[in-house]
Amino acid sequence: MAMLEIKDLHVHYGVIEALKGISLEVNEGEIVALIGANGAGKTTMMQSISGIVKKSAGEINFLNESIMKANPKHIVEMGLTQVPEGRRIFTGMSVYENLMMGAFLRKDKDGIKHDYEKVCEQFPILKERMNQDASTLSGGEQQMLAMGRALMAKPKLLLLDEPSMGLAPILVKEIFNIIEEINKSGTTVLLVEQNAKMALSIAHRAYVLETGKVVMSGTGEELAKSSDVQKAYLGG
Ligand code: ATP
Repeated sequence: MAMLEIKDLHVHYGVIEALKGISLEVNEGEIVALIGANGAGKTTMMQSISGIVKKSAGEINFLNESIMKANPKHIVEMGLTQVPEGRRIFTGMSVYENLMMGAFLRKDKDGIKHDYEKVCEQFPILKERMNQDASTLSGGEQQMLAMGRALMAKPKLLLLDEPSMGLAPILVKEIFNIIEEINKSGTTVLLVEQNAKMALSIAHRAYVLETGKVVMSGTGEELAKSSDVQKAYLGG
C-alpha cells in the first residue's frame, strides 16, 4: 500500500488549470522526486498535498485516509510536513525558537527533546547558532533550519519544495546528503526540484511534470539516462 496516493488531481487558480489530472504514489521508505520546468505545477502539487491549496477534483490519500478536504494543521498532525519554497523561517526569533515552532502541535516532551538532539546531530552548524536570530543565518543555514524545523514535527512524510534553490553547488551537495541521511533514518521524502541532476541522483523514483501533467516516470536512474530528460532538464 502506498503511503501517499494521488489520483487524477485537478487544481485551478481561477480559470487557469495548474494541475490537469495528476496521479502519483509515494511508498514508505522512498525518496520520490518531481522535476519539471518553471510553471510546470510543482509548487502547486506540494501545496495541494499539504492542504494550502484547494483542489478541484481527484483523490489524495495519506495513510489510507482522504486528505482532499483536510486543513494543514490536521495534515501535520497526521505526519505530513512541508518545507516550503524559500524556507520561510521566522525572523525575530532565535534558531532554537524556530526549531521549537516545528514541534508546537506535539505534547510528548521526551520525544521532542530526543528529536531536538537528533536535529543538532544532523545539523551541527545549527547547534552552534542556537541563540542567534534566524534572520542572520546564511541561505544554506536557513535551508537547514527549515528542514530541522520540519523534522521537529516528527513527520512520516517530509515534503521538500526546491531545497537547493539559491544555494552554491557545494551546499547543494551537502543538503542532498542530509536528505539521504534523513531518509535512511526512517523518513519518507517527496521533493520538488529544478536541479534535476541532483534530484535524480538521490531519488528512488521520479516523475517529470510538464504544464500540469505527468509526462514521464521511472526510477531516478532510468530517468537520468533518458535522452528526453537529458535534453530537457540535464543540459545534455
Ligand atoms: P517554479 O519552478 O517556477 O516554482 P512550479 O512548477 O512550481 O514553478 P507552480 O508555481 O505550481 O509551478 O505554478 C503552476 C502554474 O500555476 C503556473 O502557470 C503559475 O503561473 C500558476 N499559478 C501558481 N500560483 C498561482 C496563483 N496563486 N494564481 C494564479 N495562478 C497561479
